Amino acid sequence: MATLFSSLRRCATALALTLPAGLQAQQVTLDTRDPNQKQDPTYEQSLREWLANPRHSSPLVDHLPLAPGIPTPRDVLGYHVGAPRILTHYEKQLAYYRALEKASPRVKVETIGRSDEGRELVVVWISSDANMRQLAENRKNLARIADPRGMTDAQVKTLLAQTKPHYHLMGGLHSGETGPSETLMELAYRLTAESSPIINQIREQLYVSITPAADADGRDRNVDWFLRNQSMARPVASVPAAGAAAPGDSARRPATGAPAAFGGPLPYWGKYVYHDNNRDINIKLVQMRAIVDWYFTAFPPIMHDLHESLPLLY
Ligand SMILES: [Zn+2]
Repeated sequence: MATLFSSLRRCATALALTLPAGLQAQQVTLDTRDPNQKQDPTYEQSLREWLANPRHSSPLVDHLPLAPGIPTPRDVLGYHVGAPRILTHYEKQLAYYRALEKASPRVKVETIGRSDEGRELVVVWISSDANMRQLAENRKNLARIADPRGMTDAQVKTLLAQTKPHYHLMGGLHSGETGPSETLMELAYRLTAESSPIINQIREQLYVSITPAADADGRDRNVDWFLRNQSMARPVASVPAAGAAAPGDSARRPATGAPAAFGGPLPYWGKYVYHDNNRDINIKLVQMRAIVDWYFTAFPPIMHDLHESLPLLY
């Protein structure tokens, strides 16, 4: 999460240098809290319980702001993002993004297609109220900038000055890498609700958009498999309350004495494809094609695809 913020901030900073003089005058800020915004004490309490070492956190995410009328992930999901032993099914992720959209004009959920198994594929847009009113126009401008043939240098420069950059984040391309899809819900909340100087700056200078789970079908199959492993490992407790589990407990580790077939083999993630690292460019799969098709309607200058080196590490 902290590295995502750093990337977004660097983007906002770099772009400020290419923006018109009026915008260049803005100071880049690193302040991570608004002293006038109330913070969620249950989040800070959970972090203290879950982190073996507080230094594993960051000033960017060691607090969770509260904003009247805007639901935190916990308000909708029932737990804080990152709670041990919990992963979120795709449908619940969509429910959260839709709740954010309903609560704030800063959020818009765009349907971009259906997966092989019929799950709705979406892109979630977030920016300031003013930017969101200009979303269609800005998108049109980015398409023209992406293919500036026929324009003079002066026309391109004018268009650049009138256009705000767009930063796209994608999670869940590889279904066994579970963290990004969780993290993105919290990031969406922070970008919508937080009034710290650093978040205000990102929200005012950028459009951010999110693919919650690029392989929506595989996401659900992997969460089912994860939960099945847990229920076999812990027959007494089903899904525990947030914060109930010991930190660092690996869901992939069988309980002592568990049968050899514990939890079953890794799931067959796709309807037609078991797992293919080249699915990144495999546009035979309808969900991948939907993302590529969407890309050519939005032309985000930055597309940040989130992966994991080790499942469950983050
Ligand atoms: Zn990956």
